[in-house]
Amino acid sequence: MTAPFVHDAPAQRVVYGAGSADRIADEVARLGLGRVLVVATPGSGARLGTRVHEQLADRSAGLHAHAVMHVPRSVAREGLAAAHAAKADGLVAVGGGSSIGLAKAIALETGLPIIALPTTYAGSEATPIYGLTEDERKITGRDWKVLPRTVVYDPDLTLGLPAAVSAASGMNGIAHCVEALWVAERTPISVAYAAEGLRRFAAALPRVVADGQDRDARGACLVASWLAGAALTAGTALHHKLAHVLGGLGLPHAETHAIILPHVSRFNLDAAPEARARMAEAIGVADPAEALARMLRAFPIPQRLRDIGFDGRRIDFVADEIAHMNVALPRKAGADETRRLLREAF
Ligand code: NAD
Repeated sequence: MTAPFVHDAPAQRVVYGAGSADRIADEVARLGLGRVLVVATPGSGARLGTRVHEQLADRSAGLHAHAVMHVPRSVAREGLAAAHAAKADGLVAVGGGSSIGLAKAIALETGLPIIALPTTYAGSEATPIYGLTEDERKITGRDWKVLPRTVVYDPDLTLGLPAAVSAASGMNGIAHCVEALWVAERTPISVAYAAEGLRRFAAALPRVVADGQDRDARGACLVASWLAGAALTAGTALHHKLAHVLGGLGLPHAETHAIILPHVSRFNLDAAPEARARMAEAIGVADPAEALARMLRAFPIPQRLRDIGFDGRRIDFVADEIAHMNVALPRKAGADETRRLLREAF
């Protein structure tokens, strides 16, 4: 029997295709914008940002390449000041979830429209979820005004994404799909997105990690991240809540998701037969949690929480935080259950 649901999804324009980054100026003009601030991360992200800034010519009001993972409040404040100083009428976020996260933080305060050019598989471009961190705590919220108006997916922009970043952010995308299959707020549409996203990731992510120049697999992973983000919009449960608390402690976002995913899946799937069946079908295996563990083992990324700087003495803190969130579906996750799960992942 189909459970009651509410499906609420404002329109978003999505442009996909090799070379579509060249259309960025047209997409900015289409929204009637003439002074956008280009937001990126430093380093390789800044190179992408510079390219987009130059392509936009006089429609760009400048490049702000200072995005940082988990959007510390100070970084959000500087971004907001940069948007004001540039008299920006819109934001173009280029890069991964960190760039898009900073653009969302600015949009939350200003209402400026965002155009996203995602180059990882985090899927933030397809969600109305924003996050900010302060003093070891991550705050997330939802507001439709931070959902990018337009997303431009260009697989060619992702060919230089290192194997480890591809693997970890792909596992982050897979985690959106997996959790979307068991959240209480799921709808027929979010479940369909999640299953199709998972199917694409399972087939294409190992290919991307093996050969970053595989354009076909790169494209499949970008489309999968879009579906994953759209599926995540329905709601979150134990997996994202756990990653959220760990992220607040400063752990790297995508790697944290990748490490805990097989453990949370093993824990939850015992109580979620429908999700298990959909995952098994999408991945083409009998034991989906074991398939995710195998995928993680085959990827060139950290395998355990201890490998990414998690201090084992914080297990009790994290378990207590989760206990306060009253996660009951598909299975109750109190402090004891969470402690056990964290010890395994540690
Ligand atoms: P990221 O944006 O920090 O990018 C990872 C690294 O890859 C960075 O060093 C970046 O410069 C580099 N990079 C990105 N694109 C590149 C390219 N094409 N070529 C070479 N290098 C490239 O990491 P992420 O995993 O994409 O995002 C993590 C952040 O996103 C976290 O802050 C997380 O909270 C947030 N997030 C938010 C949502 C949401 O719905 N709000 C969803 C997922 C993730």
